Amino acid sequence: MVGLDCDVLVVGGGPTGIALALIAAQSGASVIVCEKEPDVYPLPRAAHIDHEVMRIFQSFGAAEPIAATSRTTPCYDFLTADGQILLRFESSDQIGPGGWPGANMIHQPSLENALRDKLPGSGAELRTGWRFKGFEESGDSISVTFETPGGARTLNARYLVGADGTHSPVRTMAGIERDDLNFDEPWLVIDTIVHDAERLPKMNLQICDPERPTTCVLMGEGRHRWEFMILPGETPEQVIADAFIERLLEPWDVEGAVTLERKAVYQFNARVAKTWRKGRVLLAGDAAHQTPPFAGQGLCAGARDAANLGWKLGMIAKGKASDAILDSYQPEREPNTRATIQMAMMMGQTVCITDPAAAAARDRQMLAARAAGQSPDGRLAYPNISSGLILEGSAGAGDYFPQIRSEDGAQRLDDVLGAGPWLISKSSSVAAAGISAKSLESAELASFAAGLLGWLEAWQADAVLVRPDRYVFGTGTPHALIEAWNARVCSAAVR
Ligand SMILES: Cc1cc2nc3c(=O)[nH]c(=O)nc-3n(C[C@H](O)[C@H](O)[C@H](O)COP(=O)(O)OP(=O)(O)OC[C@H]3O[C@@H](n4cnc5c(N)ncnc54)[C@H](O)[C@@H]3O)c2cc1C
Repeated sequence: MVGLDCDVLVVGGGPTGIALALIAAQSGASVIVCEKEPDVYPLPRAAHIDHEVMRIFQSFGAAEPIAATSRTTPCYDFLTADGQILLRFESSDQIGPGGWPGANMIHQPSLENALRDKLPGSGAELRTGWRFKGFEESGDSISVTFETPGGARTLNARYLVGADGTHSPVRTMAGIERDDLNFDEPWLVIDTIVHDAERLPKMNLQICDPERPTTCVLMGEGRHRWEFMILPGETPEQVIADAFIERLLEPWDVEGAVTLERKAVYQFNARVAKTWRKGRVLLAGDAAHQTPPFAGQGLCAGARDAANLGWKLGMIAKGKASDAILDSYQPEREPNTRATIQMAMMMGQTVCITDPAAAAARDRQMLAARAAGQSPDGRLAYPNISSGLILEGSAGAGDYFPQIRSEDGAQRLDDVLGAGPWLISKSSSVAAAGISAKSLESAELASFAAGLLGWLEAWQADAVLVRPDRYVFGTGTPHALIEAWNARVCSAAVR
């Protein structure tokens, strides 16, 4: 075997690559991330992350700094040109199952820097200015070549993860194709610095105006975002001019309340890679899937990939599981990702109508559906895991395990139980290697006991085994769960 530089080599230091590196390192893998750029991407991108993603960032200590500059908003409204509600996604400022607000409005470069701040001492290293050139797989390792400031370099690893964004050179080199879900719309995105927040909307808005479909959303503290659909006949060069942007903002009456900070033109697409693992190469984040941003789920999906893949790579690196567990990655993640993309496309198809007659028909149909209580609005939720490393047939298997707060609200469960798998049982606590086993009678869980008991009773279970990514492996008796975990995960028999 060739000498290894690390267990996991990640190409791409965006949010997916850094989150994956931190989780895999925490789980026991040595990780190097190679990023071609000197700094984080500076142009407007994500403005929203959900409660589950905040919990993922909490797992390596980055949630608090992100929360310190993020904002919440009560709802996300889709309005007609004259302000009637077509769709309303609400309760986004309420605490979600992940233990954080349902919607957290952010500034992506600040978030990415908060993630990178957690690298020193983590077991994961970031090398900037390293541009991926190619790879060669041989036996039980993979050699990856880079162009670096010091010349060409080769690193050897057990696995290569392409977290290198939507154009993913790793994906291209691996010969992996994508399904095109046929969404293709050009938009102008502008971010502003806020001087007078009182003059700005307090909720996230999609203005379904056929004359100019427009998005207006909060961002992290001190910033506000507008997105304008580029109409047929307009060019990117034309719409990105400051004078054109000024005209687009006129109807919002925000002169003096905001100043333009940055701007970009994007083609909003929807695509999913056909294969997320090919031998020692894995894809994560935008490299594996691309979504239009209407549901605010691209970065979120990448973070969920990182949470799913990170613990598995860690267990393999520690010799606790065979590499077959990686075959569960795509079946577990793809249905959830496709559902978020379908939701985003539904939202986009609602907004991106420029024909006045079609827009009027949409308005009539959606207003009637909403009046009849048949609208798909409410609270946004996406599917859990239905097949993979779960104990199929046991109640709650594959569901998302909530992050309960202590009775006084001061503590979150994950901060008390820590990383890795948990076995939570009503009474008997059973020792199990590599699993944090706790009974509701234990001192640590005393102030969470009522909430945890409620969860167990809802599933009529004595105990629950929770995976490191906080999805339920299964419920049952403590002994049966440990036996099943050892058989399914540690011996890696993915059925
Ligand atoms: C307008 C807009 C709004 C959005 N809003 C939201 C939102 O509200 N919520 C949300 O969740 N998502 C949103 N997104 C999506 C989100 O920004 C992306 O999904 C997210 O950035 C993807 O992260 P990533 O790490 O997978 O890829 P990227 O952030 O693209 O990172 C990939 C990295 O790989 C590097 N790289 C590429 N090639 C190489 C190479 N050859 N060698 C080394 N490094 C390489 C790149 O430099 C880059 O740093 C939005 C996107 C857009 C465009």
